[in-house]
Amino acid sequence: MAYQLIQLAVQPTDNIACPHCQQQVIDWAEEQYIQPCEHTLFIAMDIGFEYITDEFETTMRRNVDDLHANDDQVIMLDELKAAAFDHYVIYQSDLGIEGYSRYIGFTA
Ligand SMILES: [Zn+2]
Repeated sequence: MAYQLIQLAVQPTDNIACPHCQQQVIDWAEEQYIQPCEHTLFIAMDIGFEYITDEFETTMRRNVDDLHANDDQVIMLDELKAAAFDHYVIYQSDLGIEGYSRYIGFTA
């Protein structure tokens, strides 16, 4: 298995930091709350991507445009897990909407 899934016990309004450099990649104090660092591979929700590197996208079985075009049939976490990227960590956190999560991918 190339990935590790970690459930974060955080509130939807909490910041989320990179485990490597401690940068707040979700930072609600910023107007643009998505602040990817060099270790961030993607920031996604069940309904679509907020950020993704080309490096990670090329390892996915479907590209982002295809996923967004079929977002009613896509199970985001399954797509993220199916990527052929070598060693990555998925942080899953509650989005504050019933049944929805945010997924942040970091290099391992
Ligand atoms: Zn980092």
